[in-house]
Order: sequence, then C-alpha cells, then structure tokens
Amino acid sequence: MPQVAILGSTGSIGTSTLEVIRHNLDKYQIIALTANTDADKLLSQCIEFKPKYAVLLDKSKALHLEAQLKNHQLTTILLTNKEDLSYVVQLPEVDIVMSAIVGSHGLMPTYSAILAGKRVLLANKESLVAAGRLINDALKANPKASLIPVDSEHSAIFQSLPTDFATNKNGINKIILTASGGPFREYLKEQLVSVTPEMAVKHPNWSMGKKISVDSSTLMNKGLEVIEAYWLFGTDLDKIDVVVHPQSIIHSMVEYIDGSIIAQLGTPDMKTPIAYALSYPDRIVSGSSKLDFSTLSSLTFEKPDYERFPCLTLAFEALKTGRSSPAVLNAANEVAVSLFLEHKISFYDIYKLIKSAMEYFGTRDYSTIDEIIAIDKAVREYTNSIA
Ligand code: NAD
Ligand code: MG
Repeated sequence: MPQVAILGSTGSIGTSTLEVIRHNLDKYQIIALTANTDADKLLSQCIEFKPKYAVLLDKSKALHLEAQLKNHQLTTILLTNKEDLSYVVQLPEVDIVMSAIVGSHGLMPTYSAILAGKRVLLANKESLVAAGRLINDALKANPKASLIPVDSEHSAIFQSLPTDFATNKNGINKIILTASGGPFREYLKEQLVSVTPEMAVKHPNWSMGKKISVDSSTLMNKGLEVIEAYWLFGTDLDKIDVVVHPQSIIHSMVEYIDGSIIAQLGTPDMKTPIAYALSYPDRIVSGSSKLDFSTLSSLTFEKPDYERFPCLTLAFEALKTGRSSPAVLNAANEVAVSLFLEHKISFYDIYKLIKSAMEYFGTRDYSTIDEIIAIDKAVREYTNSIA
C-alpha cells in the first residue's frame, strides 16, 4: 500500500486529502502528518490515522501534544523543527507527498521530496512560482520523482492534455485557465477601496484557507496560477489565457489547433483533483458530489478586468521579466495579504506594496534554492518595512 505524507494536514487541502483517503483506506496509508500550530486538529488526525510521524512547529504546544499521544497509546513520533518537514518527506518508506503548506514555507520540504524521488502532489503553488526552474531541474535530475497538480485548474489541464504533452506540444494551441472572479467580481473600483478581509475570505464557490481566499479576491491567485501553469506544462506565456467563469463548473480547458477544446468539469470541490492526483493514472472515489446538469441554469464567461484587479497584470509582468521576479512577486504578496488580513492595510495597498517591491528588487539570476530563500526573506523584510 502506498505510504502518504501530508505537509499541512490541518489546512483546507490537508483536511480534504484525509477525507479522500477515508474513502480509500484499503488503498493508502498515512505515514506522516504535519501542522504549524493547530495541535488539537493534529491530535485528532493522529488518533484516526495513526501515522508513524507527526510534526508540530509550535514548540509551546509540543509537550502537551506528546502527552496526549501517549494517553491514546499512540506510538507516533512527534517532531518540532522546520527541518523535520524535509526529513519526514524523504523517509525511504514514503511514496506520496501531498504538498499543502500555504506559502513559500512549503518550498524546502517540497523540493526535498522531489530530490528524494517521491511522487509529489502539488497544492502549494507558491513553491513553483518562486522556484519553478529549480524544481523542474530537480525533476529532470531525479526521474523517479513526479509532480502532479492538485490545483483544480491545473488538474483540469492535466486531464485535458495529451499524455505525452511533456515531449509533444504538437496540436496544442493554448491553455485556458478559468477564474471564478472571486467575491468582488461585480464591485466597482470605488467599492473595492474599502472592502474588508472578512468580505474577502467569503468566496462564492470554494471553501479555502484565508491566504488563497484573499488571493482569489485580488485575482493574484489566477496570476500565481498562470506562472504555475507555465512551469507545470512548459507552455509559452502567450499561449496561456484567463477567462472568468463565475460558476466554477468548467475547471479549465485546452484549445487545439483544429479548433477542438477539451475541458474538465465538475462541482467545485477540491476532493476531485486531490483524488486524481493520488490515484493517477487510475481513478478512485473522492467523496465529491456529482454534477447535476438539470440544476445548472447557465455557464457564463467574461474577460478579466485588469483595471479593477491589477495584481493579475503584475503576475503576467513578473513571468515575462522572469528570473527572480516571480519570487519577489510571491513574497511581497504573502506579506501584503497577511497585513490586509490583520486590518493593517487596505485592499489596493496589496497591489501597491507588491508593485513597490518589484520595482525595488528588479530581477536577477539565481541558481540554488538557498538563493531563492534569501530573496524571499529580503523581500518580506522590505515589504514589511514600507507598509
Ligand atoms: P490553509 O491555511 O487552510 O492550511 C495551511 C496548512 O499549512 C496548515 O496545515 C498549516 O498548519 C500549515 N502551515 C502554515 N504555515 C506553515 C509554516 N510556516 N510551516 C509549516 N506549515 C505551515 O491553506 P489551504 O487553503 O489548505 O492552502 C494550502 C496550499 O494549497 C496553498 O498553497 C494554496 O494556494 C493551495 N491551494 C488551496 C486550495 C484550497 O481549496 N484550499 C486550492 C488550490 C490550491
Ligand atoms: Mg485554483
């Protein structure tokens, strides 16, 4: 039975992954679970799935958690260091790694899993945005490793592309990423000026962590996904389009040169792409509800509004500029989103801070993960200092 390690098991994607595995207990076994601070949730997951290892980064809660694990007669080994995230994914018994930490903190363990030749299911798009070229180099150097998309759009594209797309781009005209448009799709610019984090995290179709919910409301999420698609599928930038589709039923599409368009559809539920990433090339039950066409009144499409949602423009610019620019965009965005969630800055300040950081840092070459991590740190410090 494949042994699964989940990075970020207490989050939205982590929890959904465990839900899918609950439907497939005869097919997968949990070997490691990791969390940042949510000790209670990690404990209940350990009680249910009995992993060999658990990682909790919040050291102040570790002693108590360790005692509780013992009380439940669990032999789970509790680790508490950042480096332990990379350690658990590299264990020889691990077959599959779900990369579902939010933000660039997920980069090092994701990269370590690839170096160790694991099958990596990628939800943590920020890793690929920050270090796409290095991740692809690591995949080439470690043919046993694979990177399978979890993001619903990229799962849809993965399912709509020919299986040999990595070596054969013949016939593919473009990739069309769909975007829900987020909770503020119909807001005027004057209204957007004063939206609150509480409004931003209420996504109309998807239930997600706070950071990605804010990213969806600024359309930065789609920008990050354009960069993610560029690295995952090796598509030219001018062959990636974004179309707003508010119902989130078509999860993305591939257009071929003969005019055919192949799309993947389903209810907006991350359990479907998570299940496909786990079982590819087979299929397993995911627990998602099925799409009922008789209740769908319409599927609509519109162009994204770059004027009201300028973060999307910044992401295209960062990809076009290349080199370290996407890493700068990503780090500045992470800081700006945190500050917005803490009510310290307004909605459009997110855009202004990222733009300032991109101007200040410009772009430069990098050749190691440590360099990317240093850039990430410097951009975080700078963005906090000008906020
Ligand atoms: P979340 O905030 O719900 O969960 C984040 C997880 O990461 C938690 O388990 C938390 O303990 C852990 N974590 C947070 N900070 C950490 C740190 N510094 N070190 C180690 N662990 C840390 O987030 P989410 O919505 O599940 O998103 C996770 C990733 O998946 C993000 O990259 C997001 O963009 C991507 N994603 C999410 C969805 C979704 O529907 N939620 C869809 C597509 C992609
Ligand atoms: Mg997505």
